[in-house]
Amino acid sequence: MGRPVVLLTGKEYYQPGWIEEHWPQLLERCDLRLSDSKPGPELDALLAEADVILPRRFKTTRQVLEAAPRLRGIVMPGVGIESVDKDAATELGIVLANSPGNIITVAETTILLILALAKDLVGWMQAARESTAPTSGMHGMELYQKTLGVVGFGRIGRYATGLARAFGMKVLAYDPYADPGELAERVSLDELLRRSDFVSLHVVLTPETHHMIGAEQLKLMKPTACIINTSRGGAIDEPALIEALRAGTIAGAGLDVFETEPPARDNPLLAMPNVIGTPHGLSHTDESFKRCASLAQQSILSLIDGQVPEYIVNRGVQWRALQESAIPST
Ligand code: NAD
Repeated sequence: MGRPVVLLTGKEYYQPGWIEEHWPQLLERCDLRLSDSKPGPELDALLAEADVILPRRFKTTRQVLEAAPRLRGIVMPGVGIESVDKDAATELGIVLANSPGNIITVAETTILLILALAKDLVGWMQAARESTAPTSGMHGMELYQKTLGVVGFGRIGRYATGLARAFGMKVLAYDPYADPGELAERVSLDELLRRSDFVSLHVVLTPETHHMIGAEQLKLMKPTACIINTSRGGAIDEPALIEALRAGTIAGAGLDVFETEPPARDNPLLAMPNVIGTPHGLSHTDESFKRCASLAQQSILSLIDGQVPEYIVNRGVQWRALQESAIPST
């Protein structure tokens, strides 16, 4: 038997030297194969031999999984798993794990977007470029004693809450499945939307959270309030958001994620002065790269050693690899 085969899709993502720097143990123990993710015979041949897949820019569908008879695990490079058919993986006895190493970075990003909107950073930068002197009509606001509504009180929502509290913000939380305890006041989504000065989304994308913020929800928000989304673009109905921003139903938005990524050049949100948009890139920090890569490497090594990875997402899966032994790496 050869070395375990690890398939990395989205090969254009990997800059020269990145794999060597972050995955020395994988290089030592596995046969890493890169794919541009395009469907066709080349990808089929790679899937046929893969023991583990680390999918980027790739939909891991049932069809993909059925084309990979040896596959014992799918390891996501970050938190999101919505591009994987989790039910199919579970049915086929394939472990799905994620790599939640970017919690701190994304929580910091949330505060960055809140601060930038609160202080109208973009407006001030524009004023400087145009050599405009400040007037009394140009002003922002403090975060102190403002209310942040956290929708989705998981790892990132919780960490962002701690940061917001350090600024003296009051935090409301809506999450049907997680109790914020003493950290935040647990309220309904409608109440959160009505009372918050900033609403920040930290939900996983599921059929339940898809478009959970639409025209009706936006109408509940204060006209002075801003919405922040660092979770997944699909959590907000984007046309409804565009309309709400145009109509002044809400004051602004900070978006690291969009329904289509990267966002199209003509996406109206990008041309709005009260919107800060980034192409799902604010989680790119040296530290989060290192943490996510290290967690992914650890999960892949666990899988090839016949162990369940720490960050398994489909707990209870009847893992088909348990029937087999660990894959020799030498
Ligand atoms: P997590 O799994 O720890 O937390 C998600 C929370 O959402 C859970 O507490 C869950 O109970 C809650 N939730 C589920 N359904 C809900 C609903 N209907 N209403 C309200 N809450 C609901 O995930 P996390 O690590 O905190 O990540 C949060 C989000 O951030 C995910 O969507 C993830 O993909 C995204 N993310 C984005 C980036 C980025 O680069 N912008 C990086 C990392 C993570």
